[in-house]
Amino acid sequence: MRYISTRGQAPALNFEEVLLAGLASDGGLYVPETLPRFTLEEIASWSGLPYHELAFRVMRPFVTGSIPDADFKKILEETYAVGLDGVFAHGAVAPLQQLDSNEWVLELFHGPTLAFKDFALQLLGRLLDYVLAKRSQRVVIMGATSGDTGSAAIEGCRRCENVDIFILHPHQRVSEVQRRQMTSTLGDNIHNIAIEGNFDDCQEMVKASFANQSFLKGTPLVAVNSINWARIMAQIVYYFHAALQLGAPHRSIAFSVPTGNFGDIFAGYLARNMGLPINQLIVATNRNDILHRFMSGNRYEKDTLHPSLSPSMDIMVSSNFERLLFDLHGRNGVAVAALMDTFKATGKLSVEDERWTEARKLFDSLAVDDEQTCQTIVDVFKACAQVLDPHTAIGVRAARECRRSLDVPMVILGTAHPVKFPEAVEKAGIGKALGLPLHLADLLQRPERCTVLANDLKVVQSFVSQHGNRGKPL
Ligand SMILES: *Cc1c(COP(=O)(O)O)cnc(C)c1O
Repeated sequence: MRYISTRGQAPALNFEEVLLAGLASDGGLYVPETLPRFTLEEIASWSGLPYHELAFRVMRPFVTGSIPDADFKKILEETYAVGLDGVFAHGAVAPLQQLDSNEWVLELFHGPTLAFKDFALQLLGRLLDYVLAKRSQRVVIMGATSGDTGSAAIEGCRRCENVDIFILHPHQRVSEVQRRQMTSTLGDNIHNIAIEGNFDDCQEMVKASFANQSFLKGTPLVAVNSINWARIMAQIVYYFHAALQLGAPHRSIAFSVPTGNFGDIFAGYLARNMGLPINQLIVATNRNDILHRFMSGNRYEKDTLHPSLSPSMDIMVSSNFERLLFDLHGRNGVAVAALMDTFKATGKLSVEDERWTEARKLFDSLAVDDEQTCQTIVDVFKACAQVLDPHTAIGVRAARECRRSLDVPMVILGTAHPVKFPEAVEKAGIGKALGLPLHLADLLQRPERCTVLANDLKVVQSFVSQHGNRGKPL
């Protein structure tokens, strides 16, 4: 499988290269040159497979040429191992929980950090380590986090022999549960840095470090943010998994997806293009609704950031949206590059009418505010004693308002465990119903490791170069 850039000017790469690449050299994002397509018979034959075996069948075409089948199978068996000694604390890995007639939540929060990002980052860490061992190479990962991605990335890399990971978070500005999920994962290749500044300061330092990597003395720097192709690839699997449980491919399924960076919903779009009968895909956003404004009015326009009760979807621009634009423009990289230039210069873009009509056929959308989010948490709690996290609640709200057919099973992606976002649940008045799951019951007693550093790029870079080789200097 080869991968090409959405802006058409960067060299095509194989899977191994794309895993390490991040952004393409022309500023675009990598996508598969051709998407695999499965027949209905093939998909039907996967019914009842354990998660890791289904994952092998769905993702195999994306890695052919880079990872032999036997090795890939072994990696997937480890990634999606279940039980208290495994990675996911539920036998089904991603179980379906019914809320109403023909309405289900796909629980993607039984991994080590209680959010769906574990599905991709547990795999990404293992793939990176595999590829690096083969090349006898080491890398440094740097990332900034306001909470969620950081802990998932750290958990994904904790067993990596060839990776040192540095995660920057704003000192005293993340919740205690989120901080402890990062800082209580101990390992000589894991480095938590609390910056005396805000999230933007952290992000700027990471960006500046990618732009000038001389402080790393030749060790490559790798990004694990949501533009990494391997993350999208891993997220395609659970669409197949959920749909097969509910009778696909003999019937079609609808999905409602809480989304910010357009990563998770894009994976659903790919699943449909790969042959899974999906009859509706709903883009569910919070007040940071740039995607909803595009879908409903052909206006993709940067707005100010509105902090919300669903912070993991608080974005100003959606970094994966460019991948959809590429398909909407007949995979014409030159056209996408021109659009993205316009967006960079003006903070706005819109597409030609026929292309927008095409997008409207592919997706429905809704923006849900904080009050509606809390109301939905209450409604669902009253109806079936289930506590939703605020992101999942947005998905439920959008599913109920945008649903096209009551006969088609509706699946809402449950992106996080409610205990991660107690503020919303307390606002909804049902905070008492919450407890930490068994495998995290002692989280508040675990030892932490974290270094507080000044809000100063030189100080941070010098820390990284002093500790980037399993705690020793590079
Ligand atoms: C990251 C995240 C999202 C948004 O995912 P995208 O891939 O950006 O669409 C939604 N919910 C939770 C809990 C998240 O952590």
